[in-house]
Amino acid sequence: MGARKRLYVKELNLINFRNYSRFHTDFNSKYNIIYGKNAQGKTNILEAIFLCSSGRSHRTKKDAELIKFEENSYYVKLKVNRDHTENEIEFFCSKTEGKKIKINSIPVKKNVELMGKLNTVMFSPEDLSIIKGSPSERRRFIDIAISQIKPSYFYNLQRYKKILAERNYLLKDIGKNSKFKSSLEIWNESLADTGSKIIKERKSFIENLNEIVKSKHKELTAENETLNIQYQPSVKIDSNWNLNEIKDAFLKSLEEYFDREIKNSNTLIGPQRDDISIFVNGNDVKLYGSQGQQRTVVLSIKLSEVEIVQSLTGELPVLLLDDVFSELDEKRQQYLIENIKGMQVFITTTEKELVKFYENTSEISLYEIENGKIVNTIK
Ligand code: ATP
Ligand code: MG
Repeated sequence: MGARKRLYVKELNLINFRNYSRFHTDFNSKYNIIYGKNAQGKTNILEAIFLCSSGRSHRTKKDAELIKFEENSYYVKLKVNRDHTENEIEFFCSKTEGKKIKINSIPVKKNVELMGKLNTVMFSPEDLSIIKGSPSERRRFIDIAISQIKPSYFYNLQRYKKILAERNYLLKDIGKNSKFKSSLEIWNESLADTGSKIIKERKSFIENLNEIVKSKHKELTAENETLNIQYQPSVKIDSNWNLNEIKDAFLKSLEEYFDREIKNSNTLIGPQRDDISIFVNGNDVKLYGSQGQQRTVVLSIKLSEVEIVQSLTGELPVLLLDDVFSELDEKRQQYLIENIKGMQVFITTTEKELVKFYENTSEISLYEIENGKIVNTIK
């Protein structure tokens, strides 16, 4: 693929993070295998890296859950290398003060400034919820994916959430007293303005994803399965509409829904109600897919995400593979390995034999974890 920018996590420090009192190591710029028995702290390391990448855990919304039991705060410091420049990302979170972020020692106010500093794609057992879970899980997946490649998208999402909350308060007030109705127009305007930007980005991301995922999935299933991913926006739109047309449709639907919204004191249309449908050979994989089929779909989606990140940012993301290999048959393991060449990869596993896949051992470091400590390192 020629010369391209190289992105890799160089170093990680943890203090009172999950089951780690203190943890410090540097990493291989290629493969890092994090090996150990169950419940020793392997996933916790990937979680810390993912936190520095996206500002949140992949497992919980509650920041305080990451603080070590019996402690009051955690600290995470990560050094990331990109084209010979180094960036330092720091997280501090205390039960009383909440979460604070610094980039190169400078405090940043919002997660949004973090976006794009360290792109990661995580494969984890939780990913099955993209298929099996509620629409909110699918929205979460696309939101995280788009935010990494488009920081303005993340900004708009935050803004939209605030407008939505304000508008819902107002709907409640109007229900009690119709004199408040006059202020609704201005909130409709902001909601549709920001909302239409989100809809447009989601639409183009999902269309892009669908193109790529089709061919990945064909390869993974020896041409047996056709995967098709479709955006199901709550505001009905035509495929060739521009931003203004989407916004107009949004405003129109708000008018149509007015009575029902007052009754419910809740905004009933908009990106907060979007979903995506995933079909294999024309059937909804959530309803009809086998466990193995569902896993393979997730794998195809994630590998496509890697490709999208690369094509839009010009660099490969860092891959975080949590317990992935044990769930795949040998052919799919091989396919995955073929597809992750050139990236920095973190792999958690309970089986040491995984090393056999890699011939050039200087590209692999192995870290053995026991009860929140590195007990053995092979570099
Ligand atoms: P598996 O192979 O089963 O996936 P793992 O090595 O990935 O295991 P982790 O999920 O990284 O395990 O870590 C789990 C351990 O961390 C558990 O022992 C759990 O009790 C502990 N743990 C989780 N949160 C905290 C916390 N806030 N404080 C202290 N320990 C915690
Ligand atoms: Mg784990």
